[in-house]
Amino acid sequence: MTKQYFGFSVLEQRSVNLDSEMPAELESLYQKEPSLRACIACGNCAAVCSAGHFAEMQFYRLNVMARRGLLHEMVGKAAACMLCGRCQMSCPRGVNIRHAVLMMSQL
Ligand code: SF4
Ligand code: SF4
Repeated sequence: MTKQYFGFSVLEQRSVNLDSEMPAELESLYQKEPSLRACIACGNCAAVCSAGHFAEMQFYRLNVMARRGLLHEMVGKAAACMLCGRCQMSCPRGVNIRHAVLMMSQL
């Protein structure tokens, strides 16, 4: 049977295996604040963030950056947090966001 071309093709695998890419700094961050592992990136924390009006501050994105190894970028953005704790009241997973973001900014 001849191969048909329909104007598209299957792309290369681009998924990130988060378990295989765990930098030492990230491991230590998770040890300092284990509740970070519970984040499901729902975005509630970003919706209520006080700093979000003034800076590019979305906590769940910081966590995603950390998991992807973009630690330098994450540290820079974490510095915008005002440690008000508003996000923590909206987190359905009980992540200790204030402590986590403080640890992130000090990495
Ligand atoms: S509200 Fe909690 S679970 Fe949702 S993205 Fe923020 S830290 Fe993660
Ligand atoms: S503690 Fe930081 S991340 Fe949470 S709402 Fe306040 S400024 Fe935003």
